Amino acid sequence: MTTRQAGRDLDTSRAHSARMYDYFLGGKDHFEIDKQAALAAAEAHPGLYVTARENRAFMRRATRVLAQEHGIRQWLDIGTGIPTEPNLHQIAQSVVPEARVVYADNDPLVLKYAERLMRSTAQGRTAYVEADAREPDALLGAVEEAGVLDFDRPVALTLNALMHFVTAPHDPYDIVRRLLDRLAPGSALAMNHCTPDFDPDTWNRVAESYTNSGTPVEFRSHADVARFFDGLDLIEPGITCCHRWRSDGLDPDGKEIPDAQISLLAGVGVKP
Ligand code: SAH
Repeated sequence: MTTRQAGRDLDTSRAHSARMYDYFLGGKDHFEIDKQAALAAAEAHPGLYVTARENRAFMRRATRVLAQEHGIRQWLDIGTGIPTEPNLHQIAQSVVPEARVVYADNDPLVLKYAERLMRSTAQGRTAYVEADAREPDALLGAVEEAGVLDFDRPVALTLNALMHFVTAPHDPYDIVRRLLDRLAPGSALAMNHCTPDFDPDTWNRVAESYTNSGTPVEFRSHADVARFFDGLDLIEPGITCCHRWRSDGLDPDGKEIPDAQISLLAGVGVKP
Protein backbone atom coordinates (compact mmCIF):
# COMPACT_ATOMS: atom_id res chain seq x y z
CA MET A 1 0.00 0.00 0.00
CA THR A 2 1.27 3.42 -0.89
CA THR A 3 0.00 6.48 0.89
CA ARG A 4 1.20 10.01 0.95
CA GLN A 5 0.06 12.42 3.57
CA ALA A 6 0.38 16.18 3.79
CA GLY A 7 0.36 15.83 7.57
CA ARG A 8 -2.77 17.88 8.16
CA ASP A 9 -5.29 17.03 10.84
CA LEU A 10 -8.92 16.30 10.05
CA ASP A 11 -10.76 19.60 9.85
CA THR A 12 -14.15 19.08 11.46
CA SER A 13 -14.83 22.78 11.99
CA ARG A 14 -16.47 23.08 8.57
CA ALA A 15 -18.34 20.81 6.20
CA HIS A 16 -16.30 18.99 3.56
CA SER A 17 -17.57 18.00 0.13
CA ALA A 18 -16.34 14.38 0.43
CA ARG A 19 -18.24 13.88 3.66
CA MET A 20 -21.37 15.70 2.41
CA TYR A 21 -21.29 13.43 -0.62
CA ASP A 22 -20.95 10.39 1.64
CA TYR A 23 -24.11 11.55 3.39
CA PHE A 24 -25.96 11.82 0.04
CA LEU A 25 -24.90 8.29 -0.87
CA GLY A 26 -26.21 6.94 2.44
CA GLY A 27 -22.72 6.32 3.89
CA LYS A 28 -21.61 6.56 7.52
CA ASP A 29 -18.32 8.41 7.10
CA HIS A 30 -19.33 12.00 7.85
CA PHE A 31 -19.77 14.30 10.83
CA GLU A 32 -22.84 16.23 12.03
CA ILE A 33 -21.58 19.45 10.44
CA ASP A 34 -21.39 17.69 7.05
CA LYS A 35 -24.89 16.27 7.44
CA GLN A 36 -26.28 19.71 8.27
CA ALA A 37 -24.57 21.27 5.24
CA ALA A 38 -25.84 18.42 3.04
CA LEU A 39 -29.38 18.88 4.35
CA ALA A 40 -29.16 22.62 3.62
CA ALA A 41 -28.05 21.89 0.05
CA ALA A 42 -30.79 19.27 -0.33
CA GLU A 43 -33.32 21.88 0.75
CA ALA A 44 -32.35 23.82 -2.38
CA HIS A 45 -32.59 20.64 -4.44
CA PRO A 46 -34.12 17.49 -2.92
CA GLY A 47 -32.93 15.48 -5.94
CA LEU A 48 -29.27 15.65 -4.88
CA TYR A 49 -29.45 12.05 -3.67
CA VAL A 50 -30.38 10.89 -7.16
CA THR A 51 -27.66 13.08 -8.66
CA ALA A 52 -25.06 11.39 -6.43
CA ARG A 53 -26.28 7.92 -7.46
CA GLU A 54 -26.29 8.73 -11.18
CA ASN A 55 -22.81 10.19 -10.83
CA ARG A 56 -21.51 6.85 -9.54
CA ALA A 57 -23.34 5.00 -12.32
CA PHE A 58 -21.61 7.20 -14.93
CA MET A 59 -18.22 6.36 -13.37
CA ARG A 60 -18.98 2.65 -13.71
CA ARG A 61 -20.07 2.92 -17.38
CA ALA A 62 -17.21 5.20 -18.41
CA THR A 63 -14.66 2.93 -16.73
CA ARG A 64 -16.03 -0.14 -18.53
CA VAL A 65 -16.15 1.64 -21.90
CA LEU A 66 -12.55 2.84 -21.52
CA ALA A 67 -11.36 -0.65 -20.59
CA GLN A 68 -13.41 -2.55 -23.17
CA GLU A 69 -13.41 -0.22 -26.17
CA HIS A 70 -10.29 1.92 -25.75
CA GLY A 71 -7.75 -0.50 -24.28
CA ILE A 72 -7.20 1.60 -21.15
CA ARG A 73 -5.32 -0.30 -18.43
CA GLN A 74 -4.39 2.56 -16.08
CA TRP A 75 -6.44 5.21 -14.29
CA LEU A 76 -5.64 8.34 -12.33
CA ASP A 77 -8.73 9.28 -10.32
CA ILE A 78 -8.55 12.73 -8.72
CA GLY A 79 -11.15 13.79 -6.16
CA THR A 80 -11.82 10.16 -5.30
CA GLY A 81 -14.10 10.77 -2.36
CA ILE A 82 -14.78 8.45 0.52
CA PRO A 83 -14.69 4.88 -0.82
CA THR A 84 -18.07 3.64 -2.09
CA GLU A 85 -18.48 0.08 -3.36
CA PRO A 86 -17.81 -0.63 -6.11
CA ASN A 87 -14.84 1.69 -6.35
CA LEU A 88 -13.29 2.49 -9.71
CA HIS A 89 -10.50 -0.12 -9.44
CA GLN A 90 -13.07 -2.84 -8.74
CA ILE A 91 -14.88 -1.99 -11.99
CA ALA A 92 -11.65 -1.68 -13.98
CA GLN A 93 -10.19 -4.90 -12.58
CA SER A 94 -13.42 -6.81 -13.18
CA VAL A 95 -12.80 -6.13 -16.89
CA VAL A 96 -8.99 -6.17 -16.83
CA PRO A 97 -7.54 -7.88 -13.74
CA GLU A 98 -4.13 -6.25 -14.29
CA ALA A 99 -5.58 -2.71 -14.25
CA ARG A 100 -3.63 -0.14 -12.26
CA VAL A 101 -5.35 2.70 -10.44
CA VAL A 102 -4.01 5.65 -8.48
CA TYR A 103 -6.47 7.62 -6.39
CA ALA A 104 -5.90 11.17 -5.16
CA ASP A 105 -7.90 13.46 -2.89
CA ASN A 106 -7.09 16.45 -0.69
CA ASP A 107 -9.43 15.62 2.19
CA PRO A 108 -7.51 13.79 4.98
CA LEU A 109 -10.68 11.87 5.79
CA VAL A 110 -10.35 9.98 2.51
CA LEU A 111 -6.83 8.91 3.51
CA LYS A 112 -8.32 7.41 6.66
CA TYR A 113 -10.28 4.95 4.54
CA ALA A 114 -7.63 4.51 1.85
CA GLU A 115 -7.03 0.87 2.66
CA ARG A 116 -10.45 0.18 1.14
CA LEU A 117 -9.05 1.56 -2.11
CA MET A 118 -6.10 -0.82 -1.94
CA ARG A 119 -7.85 -4.14 -2.21
CA SER A 120 -6.42 -4.81 -5.63
CA THR A 121 -6.47 -8.00 -7.63
CA ALA A 122 -3.17 -9.90 -7.39
CA GLN A 123 -2.40 -8.97 -11.01
CA GLY A 124 -3.32 -5.28 -10.68
CA ARG A 125 -2.09 -2.49 -8.43
CA THR A 126 -3.69 0.45 -6.64
CA ALA A 127 -2.33 3.33 -4.61
CA TYR A 128 -3.64 6.39 -2.84
CA VAL A 129 -1.94 9.78 -2.64
CA GLU A 130 -3.10 12.75 -0.65
CA ALA A 131 -2.70 15.68 -3.01
CA ASP A 132 -4.44 18.82 -4.19
CA ALA A 133 -5.68 19.19 -7.76
CA ARG A 134 -4.96 22.91 -7.55
CA GLU A 135 -1.26 22.01 -7.52
CA PRO A 136 -1.14 19.70 -10.54
CA ASP A 137 2.65 19.49 -10.82
CA ALA A 138 3.06 18.47 -7.17
CA LEU A 139 0.16 16.04 -7.58
CA LEU A 140 1.76 14.44 -10.64
CA GLY A 141 5.08 14.23 -8.77
CA ALA A 142 3.41 12.35 -5.90
CA VAL A 143 1.64 10.04 -8.35
CA GLU A 144 4.89 9.27 -10.16
CA GLU A 145 6.60 8.58 -6.86
CA ALA A 146 3.89 6.03 -6.02
CA GLY A 147 5.37 4.03 -8.92
CA VAL A 148 2.11 2.41 -9.96
CA LEU A 149 1.40 4.13 -13.29
CA ASP A 150 3.55 3.88 -16.41
CA PHE A 151 3.33 7.34 -17.97
CA ASP A 152 4.68 6.02 -21.28
CA ARG A 153 1.37 4.21 -21.75
CA PRO A 154 -2.17 5.60 -21.87
CA VAL A 155 -3.79 6.63 -18.61
CA ALA A 156 -7.44 7.60 -18.11
CA LEU A 157 -7.69 10.74 -16.03
CA THR A 158 -11.01 10.74 -14.16
CA LEU A 159 -12.31 13.95 -12.59
CA ASN A 160 -15.81 13.12 -11.45
CA ALA A 161 -17.68 15.81 -9.56
CA LEU A 162 -14.36 17.52 -8.88
CA MET A 163 -13.77 20.50 -11.15
CA HIS A 164 -16.81 22.48 -9.96
CA PHE A 165 -14.90 22.75 -6.65
CA VAL A 166 -12.02 24.45 -8.47
CA THR A 167 -12.95 28.11 -8.85
CA ALA A 168 -11.68 30.57 -11.47
CA PRO A 169 -8.82 32.02 -9.38
CA HIS A 170 -7.25 28.55 -9.40
CA ASP A 171 -7.38 28.40 -13.20
CA PRO A 172 -9.26 25.10 -13.64
CA TYR A 173 -8.61 24.86 -17.40
CA ASP A 174 -4.87 25.22 -16.93
CA ILE A 175 -4.96 22.47 -14.28
CA VAL A 176 -6.63 19.97 -16.61
CA ARG A 177 -4.34 20.93 -19.49
CA ARG A 178 -1.25 20.40 -17.35
CA LEU A 179 -2.50 17.01 -16.19
CA LEU A 180 -3.31 15.92 -19.75
CA ASP A 181 0.03 17.22 -21.08
CA ARG A 182 1.81 14.67 -18.89
CA LEU A 183 -0.19 11.75 -20.36
CA ALA A 184 0.72 9.66 -23.41
CA PRO A 185 -1.28 9.69 -26.67
CA GLY A 186 -4.28 7.38 -26.37
CA SER A 187 -4.91 8.61 -22.82
CA ALA A 188 -8.39 9.78 -21.91
CA LEU A 189 -10.27 12.30 -19.82
CA ALA A 190 -13.53 11.17 -18.22
CA MET A 191 -15.31 13.77 -16.17
CA ASN A 192 -18.61 15.08 -15.00
CA HIS A 193 -19.40 18.52 -13.71
CA CYS A 194 -22.42 20.33 -12.20
CA THR A 195 -24.22 22.76 -14.47
CA PRO A 196 -26.90 25.40 -13.85
CA ASP A 197 -28.04 25.11 -17.54
CA PHE A 198 -31.19 23.04 -17.03
CA ASP A 199 -32.56 24.85 -13.96
CA PRO A 200 -30.54 27.97 -13.09
CA ASP A 201 -32.65 29.01 -10.07
CA THR A 202 -32.30 25.70 -8.26
CA TRP A 203 -28.66 25.09 -9.09
CA ASN A 204 -27.60 28.63 -8.25
CA ARG A 205 -29.22 28.04 -4.84
CA VAL A 206 -27.30 24.77 -4.45
CA ALA A 207 -24.07 26.58 -5.36
CA GLU A 208 -24.83 29.31 -2.86
CA SER A 209 -25.55 26.76 -0.16
CA TYR A 210 -22.21 24.97 -0.72
CA THR A 211 -20.34 28.26 -0.80
CA ASN A 212 -22.07 29.48 2.39
CA SER A 213 -21.10 26.31 4.24
CA GLY A 214 -17.42 26.89 3.44
CA THR A 215 -16.99 25.01 0.16
CA PRO A 216 -16.92 27.43 -2.77
CA VAL A 217 -18.22 25.95 -6.03
CA GLU A 218 -18.63 27.13 -9.61
CA PHE A 219 -21.18 25.27 -11.66
CA ARG A 220 -20.49 25.73 -15.39
CA SER A 221 -22.42 25.86 -18.65
CA HIS A 222 -22.23 23.20 -21.37
CA ALA A 223 -19.84 25.41 -23.37
CA ASP A 224 -17.58 25.89 -20.36
CA VAL A 225 -17.56 22.18 -19.51
CA ALA A 226 -16.74 21.43 -23.17
CA ARG A 227 -13.63 23.62 -22.87
CA PHE A 228 -12.08 21.05 -20.53
CA PHE A 229 -12.04 18.66 -23.52
CA ASP A 230 -10.28 21.06 -25.91
CA GLY A 231 -7.79 19.13 -28.03
CA LEU A 232 -9.38 15.74 -27.26
CA ASP A 233 -11.62 13.58 -29.44
CA LEU A 234 -14.92 13.24 -27.63
CA ILE A 235 -16.36 9.75 -27.88
CA GLU A 236 -20.06 9.09 -28.43
CA PRO A 237 -22.42 10.56 -27.30
CA GLY A 238 -20.32 13.67 -26.60
CA ILE A 239 -21.17 15.79 -23.57
CA THR A 240 -24.58 14.96 -22.11
CA CYS A 241 -26.29 14.83 -18.78
CA CYS A 242 -24.50 11.94 -17.03
CA HIS A 243 -27.56 9.68 -16.73
CA ARG A 244 -27.89 9.69 -20.56
CA TRP A 245 -24.23 8.96 -21.27
CA ARG A 246 -24.40 5.44 -22.79
CA SER A 247 -27.60 4.88 -20.85
CA ASP A 248 -31.32 5.33 -21.41
CA GLY A 249 -31.77 8.05 -18.78
CA LEU A 250 -34.53 6.09 -17.04
CA ASP A 251 -34.90 5.43 -13.35
CA PRO A 252 -35.26 1.86 -11.98
CA ASP A 253 -39.06 2.08 -12.56
CA GLY A 254 -38.55 2.96 -16.23
CA LYS A 255 -39.48 6.63 -15.77
CA GLU A 256 -37.55 9.39 -17.53
CA ILE A 257 -35.21 11.29 -15.17
CA PRO A 258 -35.28 15.01 -16.16
CA ASP A 259 -31.91 16.62 -16.95
CA ALA A 260 -32.69 19.38 -14.44
CA GLN A 261 -32.80 16.80 -11.67
CA ILE A 262 -29.31 15.48 -12.40
CA SER A 263 -27.55 18.56 -13.82
CA LEU A 264 -24.18 16.82 -14.10
CA LEU A 265 -22.68 17.16 -17.57
CA ALA A 266 -20.49 14.21 -18.48
CA GLY A 267 -18.09 13.38 -21.27
CA VAL A 268 -15.17 11.17 -22.24
CA GLY A 269 -12.45 12.37 -24.60
CA VAL A 270 -9.37 10.62 -25.98
CA LYS A 271 -6.00 12.32 -26.49
CA PRO A 272 -4.92 11.96 -30.13
N1 SAH B 1 -15.16 11.47 -7.54
C1 SAH B 1 -16.06 10.97 -6.54
C2 SAH B 1 -16.26 11.94 -5.37
C3 SAH B 1 -16.78 13.32 -5.74
S1 SAH B 1 -16.95 14.38 -4.32
C4 SAH B 1 -17.36 10.65 -7.21
O1 SAH B 1 -17.65 11.23 -8.24
O2 SAH B 1 -18.11 9.81 -6.71
C5 SAH B 1 -15.61 15.52 -4.63
C6 SAH B 1 -14.29 15.04 -4.08
O3 SAH B 1 -13.26 15.92 -4.55
C7 SAH B 1 -14.20 15.07 -2.55
O4 SAH B 1 -13.70 13.85 -2.10
C8 SAH B 1 -13.24 16.21 -2.25
O5 SAH B 1 -12.47 15.97 -1.08
C9 SAH B 1 -12.37 16.19 -3.49
N2 SAH B 1 -11.73 17.48 -3.77
C10 SAH B 1 -12.31 18.71 -3.75
N3 SAH B 1 -11.39 19.64 -4.07
C11 SAH B 1 -10.22 18.98 -4.29
C12 SAH B 1 -8.91 19.39 -4.66
N4 SAH B 1 -8.62 20.69 -4.85
N5 SAH B 1 -7.95 18.44 -4.80
C13 SAH B 1 -8.23 17.14 -4.60
N6 SAH B 1 -9.45 16.69 -4.26
C14 SAH B 1 -10.43 17.59 -4.10
